[in-house]
Amino acid sequence: MSQRQQVVVLGSTGSIGASTLDVIRRQRDGFDVFALSASTSVSVLLAQCLEFQPRYAVMADENAAQSLSDQLPSGCATEVLHGANALEHIVTDEQVDVVMAAIVGSAGLPATLAAARAGKKILLANKEALVMAGHLFMDAVRDSGAVLLPIDSEHNAIFQCLPVNEHAKTGLDGVTGILLTASGGPFRTWTSSEIAAATVEQACAHPNWSMGRKISVDSASLMNKGLELIEACWLFNVSQEQIDVVVHPQSIVHSLVQYADGSVLAQLGNPDMRTPIAYGLGWPDRLDSGVAPLDLVAIGQLSFEAPDEGRFPCLRLAREAVAVGGTAMAVCNAANEVAVAAFLDGTIGFGDIPGVIESALGRASIVEPRNLAVVEEADAVARELATESIDNLSLAPVELRRR
Ligand code: NAD
Ligand code: MG
Repeated sequence: MSQRQQVVVLGSTGSIGASTLDVIRRQRDGFDVFALSASTSVSVLLAQCLEFQPRYAVMADENAAQSLSDQLPSGCATEVLHGANALEHIVTDEQVDVVMAAIVGSAGLPATLAAARAGKKILLANKEALVMAGHLFMDAVRDSGAVLLPIDSEHNAIFQCLPVNEHAKTGLDGVTGILLTASGGPFRTWTSSEIAAATVEQACAHPNWSMGRKISVDSASLMNKGLELIEACWLFNVSQEQIDVVVHPQSIVHSLVQYADGSVLAQLGNPDMRTPIAYGLGWPDRLDSGVAPLDLVAIGQLSFEAPDEGRFPCLRLAREAVAVGGTAMAVCNAANEVAVAAFLDGTIGFGDIPGVIESALGRASIVEPRNLAVVEEADAVARELATESIDNLSLAPVELRRR
């Protein structure tokens, strides 16, 4: 039997997808690309198919799939499929060893959950899937024996700093808390009124990380840290009271774990997602990721400060959602996705994002997320509530909204 692992990259044309393929490019003896997937970027997926020769390529819709199929050379071994069902079909294929879950947003949930139920090794970048359906997802991982490796840099750092017995899921012996670091985003030093009036270009210009547009906006509002707080609660089975958010503008310390004896373990590295991706691909071994060695003398100073939930209310909203529990986290996530999309397309201002989320959280009925249908219903209702708020907002004059 071949030792090479068969990898599916969900969201291969995105920022995490491209970084994943870059690590695989350096590790061709260890990994084969079984399938690639994208929403609509036909030309990028075409180039990836020509280079990696996957067995399958999956586009979100039929037209994009047809266009990709037309452009692949005749005799090419890649079969082109489309739609969410095709993704679920592929991640559960018995030949597949590893699934990189790097679709952005709730669209990634069904396929990621299917991979968990099928007992695959899952490299989880798609934090929204866990925020929406953490309970279902963690149950599926436990029941199937799937291996879940966090790719979000903070959670990957925490995973690396936890006691080894946590990797065997036997407990967090001696751990007293987690310090989740946040860069603070591009508006860390801005006033509330400057933040409220921020443009899309300013929100997407992250000082340290190059990422997709949705997570860049989340980083600017600190909702990314809120989603990560929820993600950490699920991944490590800790309460939010055990997690402190620490703003660390240099993004060199990727998070820390505190122990009963006063020890604090941290994972450091240059801000480059190829490190956590290589860790996930190679675990428990270490692979060459292509990331430059850390030069602490050149960096000179590492600094830390408390987050300001007054200027960044999204962090508080995420804390409230996790405290309420149930479908509140799915509501928070869905309302945020709608608000961020509306900001990105110019319908609302940056300063309107928290209000849209808070209003959805206040109006949605929160229930126990017993199954996927309940979670999807909560997601759909939150989207309607958020859209309603946005419709009302876009009727109000801009000056009234920049409080
Ligand atoms: P991105 O926008 O660059 O890429 C998203 C990918 O998902 C693309 O390949 C796109 O085609 C695909 N996609 C989008 N909508 C889809 C749909 N409806 N159906 C199928 N495919 C769809 O995003 P990204 O920055 O790579 O982030 C991906 C995920 O990883 C997000 O959940 C993000 O929070 C998480 N993450 C990213 C980073 C980072 O540095 N970029 C760090 C930590 C976590
Ligand atoms: Mg992160």
